[in-house]
Amino acid sequence: MAEPLQEKPIVFETDAVVIGGGLAGTAASIHLARNGFRVICIEQRREIRNIVGESLDWSAPDLFADLGLPMEELVSKEVATWKRHITVASIDGGRKEFLPGEWLAERPWNVELRTLHLDRDRTDACLRETAQRLGVKTLHERVADFAVMDEHNPKTRRILGLRTQQGTFVRASWFIDASGSDASLLGKRFELKSVAYGPRKAAIWSHVTTEEWVEGTTLYMVPSPGEYMEWIWEIPIRPGVSSIGYIAPGSSVKRQRAAGHSTHEILVRQCDRFDRLQEIVEQGHVSQAATTSFLCRTYEGVCGTNWVVVGEAASQSDPITGNGVTAALRHAQEASRLICRYRQRGTISIWARSLYNLRVATVGFYFNSLIEKLFYQPMLRDRIGFFSTARIYTVPAWLMNVVYTRMRPAGSWVRSVAITSILNTIRMCAWLAFQVASLMPSGTANRSQCQPFSTREQIYAL
Ligand SMILES: Cc1cc2nc3c(=O)[nH]c(=O)nc-3n(C[C@H](O)[C@H](O)[C@H](O)COP(=O)(O)OP(=O)(O)OC[C@H]3O[C@@H](n4cnc5c(N)ncnc54)[C@H](O)[C@@H]3O)c2cc1C
Repeated sequence: MAEPLQEKPIVFETDAVVIGGGLAGTAASIHLARNGFRVICIEQRREIRNIVGESLDWSAPDLFADLGLPMEELVSKEVATWKRHITVASIDGGRKEFLPGEWLAERPWNVELRTLHLDRDRTDACLRETAQRLGVKTLHERVADFAVMDEHNPKTRRILGLRTQQGTFVRASWFIDASGSDASLLGKRFELKSVAYGPRKAAIWSHVTTEEWVEGTTLYMVPSPGEYMEWIWEIPIRPGVSSIGYIAPGSSVKRQRAAGHSTHEILVRQCDRFDRLQEIVEQGHVSQAATTSFLCRTYEGVCGTNWVVVGEAASQSDPITGNGVTAALRHAQEASRLICRYRQRGTISIWARSLYNLRVATVGFYFNSLIEKLFYQPMLRDRIGFFSTARIYTVPAWLMNVVYTRMRPAGSWVRSVAITSILNTIRMCAWLAFQVASLMPSGTANRSQCQPFSTREQIYAL
């Protein structure tokens, strides 16, 4: 049982506290500091190691530019590489490239057709430098508890301060929770409702030196017909270094470990199934494999009177959607704007809270639902093939991000409602197609094989 917070001495008093110094937290700190807030960012780790290196979707570069990091500069400083296309490779040797049509770059669309792959160590260093320059203070301690007024009334509850495990007390007017999906501090503290898609998955990855890298992301699809999908990414995070990672349900990795394979062996054995990956791994220097597990989950009610949840603490999207970084930066931007707008009043209006909640939840459900039904589950994929499902997924996913960026729904309730309605309609269509495909007999998809998880692991939502 935690001791009463009032009995602890107040050590810091500030305008805004951001919990978590990952991408979402650092971005939110920068936005707030730029708007004149005194910001304390609390990050438990002094050094963040083994960061994946991400493949970004087409909306992320604008969000980085808004933080003072335009994409040309990121590429010229070798913090990032260009991503010009996505290649999907199947286990039988098939390959297909997916890229936005050239016509989109022309008037009236004027869409930027390039995006980026990130070297996260270098990106984080740039962002930390910006934050420091703007006067953001970083406290390397672990947040342990919150002092909350009106705890049991979700409409009025208000955070007064927080206490770290080290005993420091911080009081502030505004709080942003960017503690990531594992911690989800406020989601857990306030017992917010959440919706999860698919089983808990594991990721194993390494960085590999290679001279044969291309300006694009390659996704290698591992499964046979009837199986839940496993896949491998190849992302050039800086010239000459690629991130290679394997994603599979936790139960599959557990089985491979039980058969006596180490984390490194599991990754190498999976890469051996594709000639190109086998070659890279044999010829390059492979760093020690890192591993993590995650559940694709979106919380509801992630904005309160004086607190907002951002990034993966609010919604963890599956890595294959390439939407994690965009979501983190977008949440950070929208949350900071809300706080700036309601600074004088001291409380975010119920209306603005509901719209933020609606946008975060709808986008989270949209990506996770589509990817689960079109890719991970075999019902549709086996009937229409990998490459067709990839096209069905990439077109709406890509368009949705373009439309979101252009519409700027955060500034208007009409646009928020419009975009969430469009997304919900597309999600409904995918759900219907999935239901129809599950009922149809298939030469390849065997229904008992399609559901390889224990009841506890099986979480399918619309
Ligand atoms: C395997 C994998 C591959 C991915 N690939 C891609 C990709 O290709 N493209 C893409 O766009 N996205 C990808 N993502 C998602 C992307 O990396 C994240 O969405 C992004 O990094 C945003 O994270 P965040 O800042 O919300 O959380 P995090 O990076 O998890 O940051 C949370 C921070 O909070 C700190 N913290 C937690 N609890 C406390 C506490 N109690 N007190 C103080 N500090 C605390 C943690 O130490 C951590 O530093 C991937 C994710 C995974 C797991």
